[in-house]
Amino acid sequence: MENCIFCRIASGEIPSATVLETPEVRVIADIAPAAFGHMLVLPKVHAADVTELPEEYVAAAAKAAKRVAVALKKAIGPDGINILQNNGEAAGQTVPHYHIHVIPRWKGDSFRAGWDPIENEGEKVTAAAMAVKACLEAEKEAEA
Ligand code: 5GP
Ligand code: ZN
Repeated sequence: MENCIFCRIASGEIPSATVLETPEVRVIADIAPAAFGHMLVLPKVHAADVTELPEEYVAAAAKAAKRVAVALKKAIGPDGINILQNNGEAAGQTVPHYHIHVIPRWKGDSFRAGWDPIENEGEKVTAAAMAVKACLEAEKEAEA
């Protein structure tokens, strides 16, 4: 996509601080890091979010995130690592090209990744889980 900043970075059209490149993804340093060493995994195809990204790219991006996490651990020795991926504005996504955040964590850093649990609405949760399961089973049958 011409106007997508991450398409332009992933393709190499815009130079970036690349730490890993494979046929499917490019991994770069985040321009406004949430913590020291924050990296972004960008697929080389345009997809707004995980629902649109082909599964082979989802797999390639997850594999790259794991490799970068291992390298970060060895290279800069964080106390922990968060791997995050936002889908949609409501989920905090600001750039509509799928990406995975690999964020090294440091004791006492300013990053917050927690949540306050909502009330567990038992029957509603069970109904939602059943609906999701039915969707997945229908998809499996359609593929067979
Ligand atoms: P999101 O909120 O969509 O999950 O994350 C977008 C991330 O992309 C943010 O962490 C932001 O700092 C980073 N970002 C936005 N524009 C650029 C850019 O042009 N270059 C790089 N390296 N990172 C960017
Ligand atoms: Zn794009």
